[in-house]
Amino acid sequence: MKPAKVVILGAGYGGVVTAIRLQKLIRSGEMTITLVNKHDYHYMTTHLHMPAAGTDHHENARVAIRDLIDERKIQFVKSTVQQILPTDKKVVLTDDTLSYDYLVVGLGSETETFGIPGLREHAMSIHSINSVRFIRQHTQYMFAKYKMNPQHKEYLTFVVGGAGFTGTEFVGELADRIPVLCRTYDVDPALVQIINVEASPTALPPGLPNDLVEYGMEVMRRKGVQYKLSTAIQACEADGVRLSDGQFIRAGTIIWSGGVRGNALLQQAGFDVQRGRVKVDDYLRSWQYPDVFITGDCSIVMSPEGTPYPANAQIAVQQGYNTARNLLYTLRGKPLRPFAYDYKGTVASLGRGEAVGTLKVKKVKGKFAALIKKMIDARYLFLIGGIPLIWKKMIFKQKMSN
Ligand code: FAD
Ligand code: NAD
Repeated sequence: MKPAKVVILGAGYGGVVTAIRLQKLIRSGEMTITLVNKHDYHYMTTHLHMPAAGTDHHENARVAIRDLIDERKIQFVKSTVQQILPTDKKVVLTDDTLSYDYLVVGLGSETETFGIPGLREHAMSIHSINSVRFIRQHTQYMFAKYKMNPQHKEYLTFVVGGAGFTGTEFVGELADRIPVLCRTYDVDPALVQIINVEASPTALPPGLPNDLVEYGMEVMRRKGVQYKLSTAIQACEADGVRLSDGQFIRAGTIIWSGGVRGNALLQQAGFDVQRGRVKVDDYLRSWQYPDVFITGDCSIVMSPEGTPYPANAQIAVQQGYNTARNLLYTLRGKPLRPFAYDYKGTVASLGRGEAVGTLKVKKVKGKFAALIKKMIDARYLFLIGGIPLIWKKMIFKQKMSN
């Protein structure tokens, strides 16, 4: 029998873990595996708030895909997926078309702008290595620009839209970075403003216990972060944002962290989507096309209570394990194993040495939570690259030059 053709789209958390598990478990001649990704590296989104603010080097947030996969077992194709054709079982790339017997879609998410005018044009968002390099350089540029134009104090105003986990983690890092930038550019720290605008009455996502939310906001306020709560960004312009209370904040930097939606390619391919994400069956397959497995931010997995689990790296990794196993079971004619999410908890960084979160039901905060967050990062590096990767990305990591 000819080996089955398995194509994995996206080398994020879901895609890379599926690939790594498959290369470990397959028998010779069982399948060919092709992994497609638009960059030749895998990046850890959970780390991006730091290089975005400039408190860590972006090299510590990425790993070459060739260091993760066994190229005798997996063919890596660096290309961008243009179209998925599930009826024809084909995928169109920038420079090629691949056919498959089984497809794994792990193309992640896109920024959700809710149609807010001007956001796409004028705001930056934290979603890739390229985007965070841009944000870091823009931030530095604003300090330099202010020194050349000291009448423009708004160059030193940073507006962050959305105080969910992404917004909060970034704001915490940015607040840590500002004193360094002030020293480098001879700027009075009192002139710098970080304003986190949030539509809900509190920062941090609903579901986090109230006392932890208060703790988190208190840490941020101590660092100089100003909140505008119960206030939505309604429009974004080149020089600032218009808020739901009518105020216009002039700002040199606007970061949008108001939410995400699934990769648009799924909707374009005719999958039934909700905010770009596909509701999957118990085995993480599309209901419409059972030869298509969907992982991570592209998928919706329902909890036993009937609500969708939040899209995060934790669930994407577990989905990668399940998808690899079920692909093998499919080929071997064994009954598939339903996906069961094992929620271990959530910890959000609040900047250097500070974090809040829950481990199962146990609340954690402060230095201890920050240590747990580091351990979660280390565990993931161990999972994909063993101790050498922890060594490279956490111990002998790349240093920032300023
Ligand atoms: P991703 O990890 O986003 O990977 C998608 C991959 O597909 C990428 O490699 C991308 O380059 C590639 N790709 C996309 N489009 C194409 C294309 N057209 N062609 C080819 N390749 C393509 N979750 C947590 O659990 N803990 C955290 O601490 C945490 N922190 C976060 C911090 C930030 C700043 C952000 C933005 C998210 C964070 N999340 C966190 C959420 C988490 O990152 C996502 O849920 C997770 O990355 C989803 O994994 P994924 O495999 O679906 O997609
Ligand atoms: P999110 O959807 O969780 O939060 C977006 C926030 O923006 C919400 O609080 C929302 O009320 C606010 N918002 C929306 N529109 C607004 C507007 N017009 N004006 C002002 N505020 C507005 O998005 P996120 O924070 O990017 O997180 C995305 C996913 O990634 C989530 O599932 C999250 O759990 C996960 N994540 C996890 C971690 C972690 O575990 N440490 C870190 C980052 C992200």
